[in-house]
Amino acid sequence: MNTTPSAPARKPEAKSAIEDQAPLIDTSKMSVGQRAALELTEAARDAAGERVGFAAGLFMGRCDFDALVPFPRQNPEDRDQGDAFLQRLERFLREKVDPDEIDRTGEIPAGVIEELGAMGAFGIKIPPAYGGLGLSQTNYCRAAMLLGSHCGNLTALISAHQSIGVPQPLILFGTEEQKRKYLPRFARGEISAFALTEPNVGSDPATMETHAEPSPGGGHFVLNGEKLWCTNGTKAGVIIVMAKTPPRIVNGKQKNQITAFIVEMDWPGVEVVHRCRFMGLKALYNGVIRFRNVVVPHENILLAEGKGLRVALSTLNTGRLTLPAACVGLSKRCLDIVKKWAGERVQWGAPIGKHAAIADKIARMAANTFAMEAMTLYTASLVDRDKKADIRLEAAMCKMWGSEAAWGIVDDAMQIRGGRGYETADSLKSRGEKPVPVERLFRDSRINTIFEGSSEIMRLFIAREALDPHLKVAGAALNSQLAMAQRMKAALKAGWFYARWYPGQWLPSLRPSRTRFLESSVLEKHLRYAERTGRRLGRALFHAMLRRGPKLEREQVLLGRFVDIGTELFAIAATCARADAINGPDKTVGGPVSLADYFCRSSRLRIERSFRGLRLNTDSQGYRIARDTLEGRHDSLVEGIVGTGSEPD
Ligand SMILES: Cc1cc2nc3c(=O)[nH]c(=O)nc-3n(C[C@H](O)[C@H](O)[C@H](O)COP(=O)(O)OP(=O)(O)OC[C@H]3O[C@@H](n4cnc5c(N)ncnc54)[C@H](O)[C@@H]3O)c2cc1C
Repeated sequence: MNTTPSAPARKPEAKSAIEDQAPLIDTSKMSVGQRAALELTEAARDAAGERVGFAAGLFMGRCDFDALVPFPRQNPEDRDQGDAFLQRLERFLREKVDPDEIDRTGEIPAGVIEELGAMGAFGIKIPPAYGGLGLSQTNYCRAAMLLGSHCGNLTALISAHQSIGVPQPLILFGTEEQKRKYLPRFARGEISAFALTEPNVGSDPATMETHAEPSPGGGHFVLNGEKLWCTNGTKAGVIIVMAKTPPRIVNGKQKNQITAFIVEMDWPGVEVVHRCRFMGLKALYNGVIRFRNVVVPHENILLAEGKGLRVALSTLNTGRLTLPAACVGLSKRCLDIVKKWAGERVQWGAPIGKHAAIADKIARMAANTFAMEAMTLYTASLVDRDKKADIRLEAAMCKMWGSEAAWGIVDDAMQIRGGRGYETADSLKSRGEKPVPVERLFRDSRINTIFEGSSEIMRLFIAREALDPHLKVAGAALNSQLAMAQRMKAALKAGWFYARWYPGQWLPSLRPSRTRFLESSVLEKHLRYAERTGRRLGRALFHAMLRRGPKLEREQVLLGRFVDIGTELFAIAATCARADAINGPDKTVGGPVSLADYFCRSSRLRIERSFRGLRLNTDSQGYRIARDTLEGRHDSLVEGIVGTGSEPD
């Protein structure tokens, strides 16, 4: 479909942007803290495999339907392998795991963890050569869906271990020796964790305080510091710890370094000092972990000294796909609950599902669940096709969109269950009703838009990736930190690129790769809308760059709208492709096509709202109001209450 020049392709295993070319982003107007955070994450931006997915060209006005249609089908052999494990897991969850008891007691019974270990649930993706099940990403996502539908605590245990814990970065970056030493232990059931967050390090790793100093002979490092909210930290045998190591001088400037260490929890100096407790996920084994003069052998560095943030970001790029998969399971469970309840609960002379206000919610729940599953399965298939595929955009979109949509779904499920939604399963049971756990699902799922990349950080991350092709073409021209001659040269190059690219954003594709993509004409129309709107998105982003220059990078709310439009286009395309693929030969009304059609119509309304918001918004006024509020000019609003000042320190 691409008839316009594309932005420079990403080279596999290329050096980080900061190291191999002129700075793409003008940091001259930033505060010291902002600059440090940006430079550190820019340096760690993963230059992994080539971008192959649908989202790769989206923000440059390119909808690559060839990357999505026909919707990838799981091959039968892979499916059978997955089914064998999933059937065992499903039976085990149904017969042996009581999620309400786990929630009530705040503990996962030791027998449950042992049996999960014995069936290989801690080594789902670990290759058989190291004792694991070696299942595909799609099968791993299917397991997350199953777990997410039943028990949030078990989902977190298994996901924190192998989506972000030691196995994932070890598979990606470990030496053969490290893999042989650790992977078989995990495959047998040993639990791991990932420790990045600190009291002053939430979304900003530049402020990290945990540090490791090399020993004089260079044989080991001495680790000191404290990590916060480490999921599985109180149960793990081995964890990944991110720590600052001595800075390096690059081009005469000091560059902070973060290194990833594999740390064994029984080493002298490692201490779990607190188990954290939360609103939901009551049985999360999450803790504060202290390191005092812990001796870490040099061979326990993952990838290389100074590459820790790259390890963390790359791990999360694929690892964060588990969370939307679990959200699919959660959403399916909510739909299942609501389907039953809305049919049997009669109020005002009719089942509540027949009242339009409730029906509206049910339709949205069903359509969004379908879309979430389509996006997640598509992205998982990219990994199965190529383990090194760069899925960072698709996975981030799945995480952001999926966790927000799932939160809407669980909220709707609570509203539809009414008072019973708010009542605990135990209380319902003890007065003779079915213990439907909407209250638990609600509590357990709130964290999904916060951890593994909050929604705000995901929008920034996607926006950065969206701007990347433009920054590569025009960043140097706009960067006031560069010499004028360098900027002029860059401006000429950019002018040449845009002179060919821009007209293509107004014209329909001259050489469409296919005249038609889908069997269903209804859905084909939505794909055509996505194609037109992709070009409109490319144009709008370009116009915003011209109008705002380097300032655009800092306009979070505005950029958020571009991100939302791109994400909705991905959702439309994935939904249509999947619905068309599963519709089968009998084109029944009421099947996946009508669900996808409803989803696309709703999504198009959201997209048009976002486009309107690009022109007509209250962003700058809102920003001023927030400043005024924070600076105390609206303090009358917080009078007459028992305020935060009264809380003990
Ligand atoms: C239950 C639980 C489990 C966790 N498990 C782990 C784990 O296993 N390992 C681990 O390392 N960490 C873990 N975390 C930490 C989690 O990933 C962080 O909570 C998350 O990264 C956000 O950091 P923060 O809470 O410090 O928020 P902050 O970074 O302080 O952010 C607060 C708010 O400001 C927003 N914000 C921050 N920066 C920006 C910005 N530049 N622009 C716009 N908005 C911004 C955030 O989105 C958020 O809404 C866990 C946390 C919890 C609660």
